[in-house]
Amino acid sequence: MTDTQPTSTTAAGPAGGTQTVPPATAGGVTQATIVKKTAPKSDYKPADVSPQRRVQRRYTVRLWSIRHSRALEWFYARFADLFLMLHPLWKGIGYGRVETPVKFVEKRVKGFMFDCRMCGQCILSSTGMSCPMNCPKQLRNGPCGGVRANGNCEVEPDMPCVWVKAWEGSRNMVKGDAILAVQKPVDQSLRETSAWLRVTALAATARENAAKGDAR
Ligand code: SF4
Repeated sequence: MTDTQPTSTTAAGPAGGTQTVPPATAGGVTQATIVKKTAPKSDYKPADVSPQRRVQRRYTVRLWSIRHSRALEWFYARFADLFLMLHPLWKGIGYGRVETPVKFVEKRVKGFMFDCRMCGQCILSSTGMSCPMNCPKQLRNGPCGGVRANGNCEVEPDMPCVWVKAWEGSRNMVKGDAILAVQKPVDQSLRETSAWLRVTALAATARENAAKGDAR
């Protein structure tokens, strides 16, 4: 999708009605700026409803994670080792049984840190700790052609393109060139499942197969 001639839109008015919002003009004017400029002027300033402020807060932690991708890469590697060490425990209890509590924690932790959408097939370590599922088109192999001149998304003009950020984050990481590997299409059947457990179970199987190979 590419930029098209902007058209007028409507926005909710203060009394619940609608008001006409002028079209965005060239020069990086975002929807949030238009809404702010066209809002009726008064002394009353409700707390926490500025579109800009809300947007900034929403992306703050996500952008922090990308800036600290190297530290998170290190932490994630240790965390994966710990989960793999606990494989006998997961197996003893049953991966199916532990999935609900693990998923509960995973969803909240990754939701807070990365705005995770629980696709179940995490590739954060290959994307500079920028979750590609936050791309409105859910592209898993780089940005579309519609990235704005300021590096923001063409669909959500206030949001930095997740792939521009992914590249920045990957440049900080030891294994940052993993971003160059082609990713498989998203397997929708894995949605809302725990990527932590899936990766652990796969790593445990690979380890067992390697041990069997060595024994032969
Ligand atoms: S890639 Fe998938 S599992 Fe990883 S943070 Fe994004 S939505 Fe969550």
